[in-house]
Amino acid sequence: MSARSIHDLDLAGTRVFVRVDFNVPIKNGTIGDDTRIRASLPTIEAVLARKPRVVLLASHLGRPKGEAKPEFSLAPVAARLEELLGRKVVFATDCVGAEAAKAVEAAGDGGIVLLENLRFHKGEEKNDPAFAKQLAELTDAYINDAFGAAHRAHASTEGITKLVAQTAAGLLMEAELRHLGSAIHSPARPFVAILGGAKVSDKIEVIENLLPKVDALIIGGAMAYTFFKAQGLPVGTSLVEEDRLDTAREVLKRAEARPDLRFMLPVDHIVAPKLAPDAPAEVLRADDAAIGNRMGLDIGPETIRQFSAIVRTAKTVIWNGPMGVFEMDAFSAGTTSIARAVADVGGTTIIGGGDSIAAVTKAGVADRITHISTGGGASLEFLGGRTLPGVAALERSGTASEPRD
Ligand code: AMP
Repeated sequence: MSARSIHDLDLAGTRVFVRVDFNVPIKNGTIGDDTRIRASLPTIEAVLARKPRVVLLASHLGRPKGEAKPEFSLAPVAARLEELLGRKVVFATDCVGAEAAKAVEAAGDGGIVLLENLRFHKGEEKNDPAFAKQLAELTDAYINDAFGAAHRAHASTEGITKLVAQTAAGLLMEAELRHLGSAIHSPARPFVAILGGAKVSDKIEVIENLLPKVDALIIGGAMAYTFFKAQGLPVGTSLVEEDRLDTAREVLKRAEARPDLRFMLPVDHIVAPKLAPDAPAEVLRADDAAIGNRMGLDIGPETIRQFSAIVRTAKTVIWNGPMGVFEMDAFSAGTTSIARAVADVGGTTIIGGGDSIAAVTKAGVADRITHISTGGGASLEFLGGRTLPGVAALERSGTASEPRD
C-alpha cells in the first residue's frame, strides 16, 4: 500500500490543504535559514498548476504549547513565501474558524493562504478529533508534504486524513520516502552507515535496524565513548551514557556475530582537558591510558583515514551525526573530513540531522550529496524501522469510497 501522489488527485476548483514544514528559525521576526520554505515550493507550484480554488498552507512553528504566542507566529513566513513564489499570500491569523474562512475569502479564486501556527491550539498535538474536524471543514483535499512532522500523530498529520475525501503525499514527502526507503530496502552495495553525535540512546534503534543491513557501520562522536567504556577502554571524562553500557555490549556482540560486517569505532582521537575552543589538544590512540582526566572531542587523523577509505568504497551511504564537537574549529576536522569523503562517493548519499547538514554546507559539498533529509527526528525514526504515523495515515486514507475508521 502506498500513499497517492498529487497527480492522482482531481484538484481543479477545490480547496486544497497542504501540511508543510515551515518550522524555520525565527529571531525577532527575522527568518534565519529558509531551506524548509524553499523545499516546499515544488509541491505548492504543482498544486497551483492544477487550478485549485484555494491553497491553504498549514504548519507548526516551535513549541507554543497550545497558546497563541506572538514569537511563534508564522506571519514572517508569509512575507518570505510571497517573495519566493512571486505571488500574493494571504495570512490567516488563526488556522481554523472565522479568521481562516475570512482569509480564504480574501485570497479569492486561485489564491494562497498561510494559516497561523497549528500549535496555537492544544487540539493539534493532542490529535483532537474536534480540532481535526475544524481543519477539515476548510478543505476538499489534503496533501502532506511535512516529512519532518510525519513521526507525530497530530491533528494536521493524522486526524484530518480520516475526514477529507482526497489525500496524497507531497513531492518533498515522496522524495524523502523514496531516498530513505530505497537505502533501507534495496541499497546498492557496499552500503555504509555513519552514525555520530552525542547520544547512543537517540540512535540505538537506528543502529539496531541498520546492523543486519549494512556492509559497514561507522560510529564516531561522543557516542563512541559508551562503546569504548563497554570494551574496557580508557575514556577519561568523555561523554559516556552509563545506562547504555549494556546496550553497547549487546550491539558489539551482534556485530561480532556478523563476520562480514565492518563495525568501525575510532582508533585514535583528539583529547583536551575541557570543552573549550582554546583547550590544549593532543592526539592519542583510543587505548592510551594517558587520556587521564581529559575528554575525547574529535576523531583522530588515523581514524579519519580509515573511515574515509571505507566511505569512499561505498555505493550507498547514510550519515547522521557529527564525528566530534564540530562547532569548535579545533574539533571539527573529523566531521569536515567525513563530509568530504561522503561527497566523493560515486553512489547514493543521504544525510540527515542538523549537524551533519551544517557540516556538508560548511565543507562546501552540500550540492554533491544525493539527498539531504529535512526531517531530523522523522528520518531517525524511519531509519530505525518505525512506521511514521503521518505516512501510515496517508496510506490508508484518501479515496472517498473507502470506509473511514
Ligand atoms: P546529536 O544531536 O546527538 O547528533 O549530537 C550533536 C552534538 O554532539 C553536537 O553538538 C556535537 O558537539 C556533540 N558531540 C559530538 N562529538 C562529541 C564529543 N566527542 N564530545 C562531546 N560532544 C560531542
